[in-house]
Amino acid sequence: MRKPGSFELSRRNVLLGGLALTGTGLAASLRPALAQASLSLGDHEITVFSDGHLTLPMNFIVPDQSEEDIAALLSPHGMATDVLTPDCNVTLLRTGDRVVLFDAGSGSNFQSSAGQLPAQLEEAGVDVGDITDVVLTHAHPDHLWGILDDFDDPLFPEANILVPQAEWDYWRADDTLARTPEERKSFVVGAQSRFEVIEDRVTMIKPGQEVLPGVEAVGTPGHTPGHMSYAIHAGSESVLVVGDAIAYSVISVEKPDWPSGSDQDQNLGIATRKMLLDRLAADRSRVIGYHFPHPASGRIEKTASGYRFTAS
Ligand SMILES: [Zn+2]
Repeated sequence: MRKPGSFELSRRNVLLGGLALTGTGLAASLRPALAQASLSLGDHEITVFSDGHLTLPMNFIVPDQSEEDIAALLSPHGMATDVLTPDCNVTLLRTGDRVVLFDAGSGSNFQSSAGQLPAQLEEAGVDVGDITDVVLTHAHPDHLWGILDDFDDPLFPEANILVPQAEWDYWRADDTLARTPEERKSFVVGAQSRFEVIEDRVTMIKPGQEVLPGVEAVGTPGHTPGHMSYAIHAGSESVLVVGDAIAYSVISVEKPDWPSGSDQDQNLGIATRKMLLDRLAADRSRVIGYHFPHPASGRIEKTASGYRFTAS
């Protein structure tokens, strides 16, 4: 019988053989993939965990653009033009006696390349029972479905779950399933079934509210009707956990006017993106994008033709 893991072992040997030729790349390549990265902001400690990545067809992400325009934007970044493979980043905030997660990852029932959050938390020594609050940006599968474990029980047994009221109302409305296109009906069924399990732990929140000490809810509708971003403040500094209101670090930042198939209201999505990019470029505060390249934090600059994201 073949030993479990023997493939990994032999593949690793092959890799090592190849790397030996390149010499200097060896040490860096042997380091385990960086699964989290931390930064401090006043008394807040912020760590970004990887939940893995998604694979999305480009004609879904930017349905109205020509292949030439897409290639002109993405090829200089060394990116593929037929699919997008964005990372998924879950932000953890330690502040006072709170341990807060922004979104819950995909869990194990969405794309197989995502759903790595529980393993990454464990590796970092964070017990799921330590999480005091889970704050949701919106209820799409890659942000919400990880709220339950493989037995459909809450994954974070002690956590309060903070949900934008408008998001809750939209997904729970009687007519939402009927009004949703066939290919997205599973999003509705998935959100409804998870909301049902967590209902008695949910606190509804509204834009402008200080939802936790130093954490302000910023209404950013368009991607979904109740989408919310969160500004973490310390004195005059802040970090914006933007969720999917600026979804992708190249397409959404450099071409905010391009309608996105991942936005449920494409025009409102554009307006919200431009408002946020203006604000981030003006105040130079840090942004963490859920689908930006891990570890997902950086700043937005205004350029001659638009905006640019620089990781930092
Ligand atoms: Zn997303």
